[in-house]
Amino acid sequence: MALIVQKYGGTSVGTIERIQRVADRVEKTLRDGHQVVVVLSAMSGETDRLIKLAHEVTATPDDREMDMLLSTGERVTIALLAMELRGRGVDARSFTGRQVGIMTDSAHTKARIARVTSGRLREALDQGVVPVVAGFQGINERSDVTTLGRGGSDLSAVAVAAALKADRCFIFTDVDGVYTADPNIVPAAKRIDKISYEEMLEMASLGAKVLQTRSVEFAAKFNVPVEVNSSFKEGKGTLVT
Ligand code: ADP
Ligand code: ASP
Ligand code: MG
Repeated sequence: MALIVQKYGGTSVGTIERIQRVADRVEKTLRDGHQVVVVLSAMSGETDRLIKLAHEVTATPDDREMDMLLSTGERVTIALLAMELRGRGVDARSFTGRQVGIMTDSAHTKARIARVTSGRLREALDQGVVPVVAGFQGINERSDVTTLGRGGSDLSAVAVAAALKADRCFIFTDVDGVYTADPNIVPAAKRIDKISYEEMLEMASLGAKVLQTRSVEFAAKFNVPVEVNSSFKEGKGTLVT
């Protein structure tokens, strides 16, 4: 039995049908005898929609209020997936960043994770519950909601995996791995089977948004094995170690 973190990005939870596909994979992982912690993004386009709304109110939205607003997107998907799983008889429960102890500094909209107090997650796992965690968000010392920068759900997943000493952190997305270049722009790009943290960090900082840069730094620091794979099909992905 392995402890596995599975993060699903915006496209992978963009519709109810896709959320049901996520539930299929979670159920399969449980059937294979593993423990699973799920980390989700908001539905694709939702964070952009919320940012646009804020700018309809003011040209200079307050960063603390922005985080309050942006953190709602991930609450929607975690609740919907937990409902879907519960409807199938899986004892799943949704948790906000605060509820699973994602503690950050106070740099609103680009907060850094200071620590993860994972007691609540451990307790849930020990009870056989599947935790469904909101990515992209934490709280600061004053319990104000913070967000981790665009693409920050990758970092949430890696941080949760590090805190729980998970066996692997899967990043399920709309491509089946890390390519030599963005496969949506360069059709001749080749999928990479295995890549080092250092090489991945360089690619991410040059703009390969398939993994958020900070999530790669965090994975390297805590030695979290990360696998990037497709949420839409079975097959080989890219292992980052
Ligand atoms: P998610 O919403 O699942 O987090 P992202 O849009 O953040 O997904 O990241 C996946 C996207 O990253 C792909 O659709 C692809 O266009 C882009 N991408 C950029 N560079 C690369 C690369 N080198 N390898 C794979 N995907 C890349
Ligand atoms: N929803 C956030 C964003 O769009 C975080 C994420 O998807 O990783 O940036
Ligand atoms: Mg992303």
